[in-house]
Amino acid sequence: METETDSGDRREEKFELECGYCRHRQPARPRSTVCPECGKPFLVRYRERETDLRELTSGGRGMWRFRELLPLRDGEEPVTLLEGDTPCLPVPTVGEDLGVDLYVKDEGRNPTGSFKDRGLSAAVTRAAADGVPGLVIPSAGNAGAALSAYGARAGLPVRVYIPEDTPEGVERRCRRFGSDVVTVDGLITDCGDLAAEYAEETGAFNVSTLQEPYRIEGKKTMMLEIVEALGGPPDAMVYPTGGGTGLIASWKVLNELEELGVIDDAHTRLYSVQSEGCAPIVRAWREGREEAETWTDAETDAFGLRVPSALGDFLILRALRQSGGGAVAVPDREMEDAADELGAREGVNAVIEGGGTLAAARRLRASGEIEAGESVVLFNTANLLVY
Ligand SMILES: [Zn+2]
Repeated sequence: METETDSGDRREEKFELECGYCRHRQPARPRSTVCPECGKPFLVRYRERETDLRELTSGGRGMWRFRELLPLRDGEEPVTLLEGDTPCLPVPTVGEDLGVDLYVKDEGRNPTGSFKDRGLSAAVTRAAADGVPGLVIPSAGNAGAALSAYGARAGLPVRVYIPEDTPEGVERRCRRFGSDVVTVDGLITDCGDLAAEYAEETGAFNVSTLQEPYRIEGKKTMMLEIVEALGGPPDAMVYPTGGGTGLIASWKVLNELEELGVIDDAHTRLYSVQSEGCAPIVRAWREGREEAETWTDAETDAFGLRVPSALGDFLILRALRQSGGGAVAVPDREMEDAADELGAREGVNAVIEGGGTLAAARRLRASGEIEAGESVVLFNTANLLVY
């Protein structure tokens, strides 16, 4: 694609930005945030190229071996801790009970213990390349720790705003990575307001979920690794959905692979699982809506799922609809029991959110939405030790 640069000359760019909502397109300028036309998230669009899966990986280790499909320009180096390359682990004992070919994508093996590492490696890579003076994030969990580590790696100061009731392990990890942690007597939304103010005052770059375009790109590598491991896309994927970045990313990259001719079609059905105590996406799905209303009085032990309102709600619901998937709400107790089951029967180090995917898969199997013999991938987003 040809884009106009700020200096006015026209040159071939590897990627540009397209609004996921109103389709407004613009060059990927430094410090890009959300669409200036409508305030919704940008999606990265790549120049079309012909390739095959072998060429998609440039070799080496970690998620940046997929750099051809990531927002890295020629001559740039990523900010990386060799995140990614997590196993798509067969769980045959539990799978046999369900009558499906079952796998756990075990994201707890990442450098700071969660899937957030992928998105923040990508976001910090671009922010560092753009020359930002510092980074800021509101976090109720693993994103703060991940940003702290990648900020340290990039030599950039990091400010993290966390709600007072955040598990102690989160704050400890942020501080270990040298971040300036501010605890807030309030909700994650209050932390978000403070992060925005801090960015305004200091020039720090705000890497909140979907406030910048590149965390989605890092999360794409989860599905790239699954396709690689299984030799193609699975029949179904069950994803614990808070902000939904990974789900949006999975659908995005399956379509990119289809356009590139790497896979025949992006046929994986994506299912969203949320807690019954905070299920805005599930409610919107059941009501056939294209956007989700804010969930009031959110209450769940699954911190990663305590997201009453997601900026990318319409992208999540679109991915569920286009992929032929759906959405399921599960009580906390059932999620916890399923996490215990993954641990006790398969040795998987799962958090409650990961357990939620098994609980949801069981319900989808009972309702016939997942059929016998299908290949099904569950996502375990973090390991238990992070709390
Ligand atoms: Zn827009």
